[in-house]
Amino acid sequence: MPIYEYRHADGFEEPCKQDTLEVFQTMSAPEMSICPNCGRPIQKLISMPARHQQHINNTLNEKNIAEKGFSKYVKTEDGKYEKAAGPAEAPATLDRGTMAENLKHLD
Ligand SMILES: [Zn+2]
Repeated sequence: MPIYEYRHADGFEEPCKQDTLEVFQTMSAPEMSICPNCGRPIQKLISMPARHQQHINNTLNEKNIAEKGFSKYVKTEDGKYEKAAGPAEAPATLDRGTMAENLKHLD
């Protein structure tokens, strides 16, 4: 669920301690106009999606991917993928033909 940043439009009161607040909201949730903490008017800031994207980039960097046991493959040509990150036991390359062949036994 994305984090949205709001700023008090006209000051804030206890229990709020600062001008800005971060709110978890679904993408489809309506924009809030009243602070859920102190009841003062708030305005949504547009800066948060960029920061959220940065958080995602930091979390899903190649070092973290490998440490968590995931692999990342980058497409090199049609149907061919090269390992960009991941554990040593993960195959260095993948190709569509081999993957289709490997999945057949699951039918
Ligand atoms: Zn508030």
